Amino acid sequence: MSQTVAFFVSFILYNLFFILFSLDSLGSGVSGNSTSPFAIVLVYGTVWLVLTGIGLGFYFLVSAYVKVKGPKKIEISTVYMTQTPVDSILKTDPNFHVDDFLGQVHKLAAKLNTAWTQNKMEIVRNLVSAGIYNRFKIQLELMKLQGIQNLMKDWVLESASIVAVDSDAVYQTIHVEIHAYAKDVNVNANLSDLDKQKLLNDSSQTDYYEIWSFVRKKDVVTKKQGGALSGNCPNCGGDIHDLGEINKCKYCNAIINSGDYDWVLAEITQKIEWNESSSSKDITERAREINPSINRQVIEDRASYLFWRWIEARAKGSGKYLKRDATQSIQKQIQEKEFLADVAVGSSDLKQIEIKDEKFFASIKILWSANFQPGQEPIHQQTKFLVSLPVNLARKGGLSSNSCESCGAPLPESDSLQCEYCGANVPAQVNDWILEEIKTRS
Ligand SMILES: [Zn+2]
Ligand SMILES: [Zn+2]
Repeated sequence: MSQTVAFFVSFILYNLFFILFSLDSLGSGVSGNSTSPFAIVLVYGTVWLVLTGIGLGFYFLVSAYVKVKGPKKIEISTVYMTQTPVDSILKTDPNFHVDDFLGQVHKLAAKLNTAWTQNKMEIVRNLVSAGIYNRFKIQLELMKLQGIQNLMKDWVLESASIVAVDSDAVYQTIHVEIHAYAKDVNVNANLSDLDKQKLLNDSSQTDYYEIWSFVRKKDVVTKKQGGALSGNCPNCGGDIHDLGEINKCKYCNAIINSGDYDWVLAEITQKIEWNESSSSKDITERAREINPSINRQVIEDRASYLFWRWIEARAKGSGKYLKRDATQSIQKQIQEKEFLADVAVGSSDLKQIEIKDEKFFASIKILWSANFQPGQEPIHQQTKFLVSLPVNLARKGGLSSNSCESCGAPLPESDSLQCEYCGANVPAQVNDWILEEIKTRS
């Protein structure tokens, strides 16, 4: 924009100067020597046209270049701030400092980028919820199925600011607005590394806004030495640098990413789709009197996990990807491979909880979009998941994925009933909310 203004200002000045100069010459020509006024106008007119042509040509060349390259590489120092009081957190956690917390968010965002671009989600398994972990993992899988690779570089975080803080009976949530720049392109995975790099280098550095929601138990106090992101068990402080995919501390058996001991990234929403009040209603109180392990955050994250497994199962054409998480009839519904691309979730909202036949039934509304045919625009979908949990089953692990109860490793992808890490028995179906019914309308 500023370029255009600068161009027109200099253009007008240049023309003014030219008109004054030529009038002056014309005047002296008429009164003084014998040069014909017509010749003067012709000469100056030609010079004017040529100069204007060069000027305009140069301007359009520069604009086209900037358009292709994007803004020159942006280098900024990140701003941390809060637009909302954090009193409710400080009341129970005097160690909480906004700048420290946002510094951790910054660190996590950088780590998540590395995990994503290198296709090594295990790097962040202990820092994010089951829903987020599977979202990225399955998005990477879907791109692989379509022969696409996402490339990213020159990522800079311009600002991170706390835009809302809320809590229910069990958890506190901090919503952070992230404003960042990056070069980000999808390329054909079969291209040579050189061609991929060229496409990435030639792309623009564009910016985006997201809301990141961090969740932890209400009574938690921030550890001075830092939690999982600093390589410490958020419960006992033990060294967990070498845990890899295991999500259980070997010293105290705490589940690292449960949200019981530290903040866990549980939701990422486009700022434009984020609605603070949409998830603040708690309808789980009555159910919690019967079973204390029940709460909204966990059910919504579980639904998000189930959603991504369901997408994976459809894209790969087999119900076995839902084997441990859904009823037989849901698994049988999935028979054929479907084309699914650019899958995105807008929201996952718990709408209702009921008791029937010694089970809780929770219904969750999921708003999402996807491409169902190559090259088409995404179509919006509204899907209702009905999930069940036996009334007396105390669900463990908070916001973490179901893991081997013995060592904390991810459950095997195969039908295997044995943990691939420690050999312990693993259940054919998890002790968790099980997917019972799916209803979609577009
Ligand atoms: Zn520990
Ligand atoms: Zn194990």
